[in-house]
Amino acid sequence: MIRSCICCGTALLPFAGETHQVDYQGASVAVADLSGFRCASCGEIEFDEDSAERYAAAGDMLVLAARHAAGAELRRIRKRLGLNQVEASQLTGGGHNAFSRYETGKVVPAPAVVNLFRLLDRHPEELDRLKRA
Ligand SMILES: [Zn+2]
Repeated sequence: MIRSCICCGTALLPFAGETHQVDYQGASVAVADLSGFRCASCGEIEFDEDSAERYAAAGDMLVLAARHAAGAELRRIRKRLGLNQVEASQLTGGGHNAFSRYETGKVVPAPAVVNLFRLLDRHPEELDRLKRA
């Protein structure tokens, strides 16, 4: 059976032994010995089952690492500002235990939360103004 590209319908050609880079938020990891099929026309790739699993697992690992790094950064800044998790959650919304979930990596904080805390990290004196608002 000839496999055809899901994007353009051109016949797919097999490949094997390739190393592909997975990138996420500035971090990257190489996944070696990947195999599958490639469209000669548009370049679309279909990995074999084992390769697809290993490629996806590498991506999941990068996402988890990024979540934990974001959580650790928020925890460091929150402590520097002298806030407990409930106070930090009240400041940013998202529920009373939002910061607990951010800091443990269970939930990815919205970019606005990370940006606010990075600003407060540089200008901690602005926290008083926010508390009064
Ligand atoms: Zn194609």
